[in-house]
Amino acid sequence: MMVNTGTVVFCADIGGSFIKFGLSRQQGEVTELARVATPAQSWDEFVLALQALLTEHGDGHPEDTPLAISTAGLVSPQSGEVMATNIPGFAGHNLAAELTQVLKRRVSVANDADCFALAEAHVGEGMGLPIVVGIILGTGVGGGIVFNGQLVRGHGGVAGEWGHGAITRTELVLDNNLVRIPRLPCGCGQTGCLDMLGGARGMERLHHELHQQSLTSQQIISGWQDEDAQSVLTIEAWLQLVGEPLTLLVNIIGATKVVVGGGLATVPRLIAALDERVRQSTLHSYPQPLVVPGKFVSQGGLVGASVLGRQR
Ligand SMILES: [Zn+2]
Repeated sequence: MMVNTGTVVFCADIGGSFIKFGLSRQQGEVTELARVATPAQSWDEFVLALQALLTEHGDGHPEDTPLAISTAGLVSPQSGEVMATNIPGFAGHNLAAELTQVLKRRVSVANDADCFALAEAHVGEGMGLPIVVGIILGTGVGGGIVFNGQLVRGHGGVAGEWGHGAITRTELVLDNNLVRIPRLPCGCGQTGCLDMLGGARGMERLHHELHQQSLTSQQIISGWQDEDAQSVLTIEAWLQLVGEPLTLLVNIIGATKVVVGGGLATVPRLIAALDERVRQSTLHSYPQPLVVPGKFVSQGGLVGASVLGRQR
């Protein structure tokens, strides 16, 4: 058996549909080796899938090579439980502790938004900065906080989840008109969460609310870039609704940099407009861009896991 020198870490990014599996030889670099369907309904089948991946790709590596996991859902540092609505098989299981035992190696687990924040804080757009917030503007809204290189997990793993709570405005001034904005019920049980209006699906809901027209977020964004009046109005509403809670988050934790992941981060002009909006309102001034697209918009889970797996 080879001696584990700690140089190699296996990484897995677990979503509701797929497990991405890779090998990292140094922090921030991961070679993706496999992609298999997530057995989301069954814990036993999930464990078997991980065992199969580790066996198939384990040749030439120490048997106790650590595994670092980025997963959908909230990871509680107190109980170890993962609350992932799209992976019901995780219910009632302490992921890190049970996998450490059954896979006979050190297994560390963090939420995918937290892994994105770790990746950006260590090897991305927030590299070396003291307080890095990673925000996800994907289908919904999520986030994670890294303080001096360390992930802040918080009670139940909830730290950085700025998209939930009754925070959206009920009225906006758009083109000198007062427009009512509904507070929508959210999957978390609250009403008025930014998660319902701030991500790509939220932008689509907002557009429908304002214009009674169903467009995809891509169509709305390209309409905005082409100066289509309806899309311009929707994006103006979106910038106000997202910019205000984000400014509050920046003020509360004194963020040095806010790095954006998720599908909407692939539109630099949209993130630049959000950055401008936020920097107009923060309590302390930011002469340089504060809200920027991430370096790891698509690979944040695996790259973040490569950082997580090397943290003590
Ligand atoms: Zn919510």
